[in-house]
Amino acid sequence: MLINIRKFLKSVSLAMFPRKCIGCQTPDFWICQKCLSTIPKSFENPLPWSFSAFEYKNRIIRKAVWLLKFSKKYSVLDDLAYLINRRFGELLEKEKLTEKELILIPIPITKRSRSVRGYNQSVLICKILVRNRENVTIEDSVLVKTKNHLPQNKIKNRNERLNNVKNSFRVKNIERVKGKIIILVDDVVTTGATLKEAKKVLVEAGTKKVLGFSIAH
Ligand SMILES: [Zn+2]
Repeated sequence: MLINIRKFLKSVSLAMFPRKCIGCQTPDFWICQKCLSTIPKSFENPLPWSFSAFEYKNRIIRKAVWLLKFSKKYSVLDDLAYLINRRFGELLEKEKLTEKELILIPIPITKRSRSVRGYNQSVLICKILVRNRENVTIEDSVLVKTKNHLPQNKIKNRNERLNNVKNSFRVKNIERVKGKIIILVDDVVTTGATLKEAKKVLVEAGTKKVLGFSIAH
């Protein structure tokens, strides 16, 4: 029943907002199967404890991130969901993590970005990661932003990026993260400054282990 509703909603949304593959223009997809199969894995990570599914330099990924962040087309995540989940599974395997103990925390965005975009894209990524993993939980109100700094992609200089995010997070409910294994989830990681800041406050709050997962770097 749930699947039928999902299918129905998808067909309604396709009729109202026609899609075209960002790789080859095939109708009804943001990314068709053929183009999905061309997206390579990422083998490099910006931080040793953070894992990226794909490389931002890949043309399809770059366009997908643009749709997600600047064009309100979050349904692009549906087409990437299978691949994102597979990469996430590889991270769990590599780190020998059992799902029971895992908490996902999406990197919070500024109130302004939230109201312009209508959603936090990292929360949507978390929702994909918990599909078929009923023991993995999302905590999206524990980590909060303490200042509305500039979006990191607006700053080119590495040092300025680091300063921009300094002391920008706070843990609201320490009991929820104390002794836990946490995976911070972000859309794109560039220098890793945001992830490092978020990890810092979680470690201070007594988190057992912090890892990062992003769609691209
Ligand atoms: Zn295509």
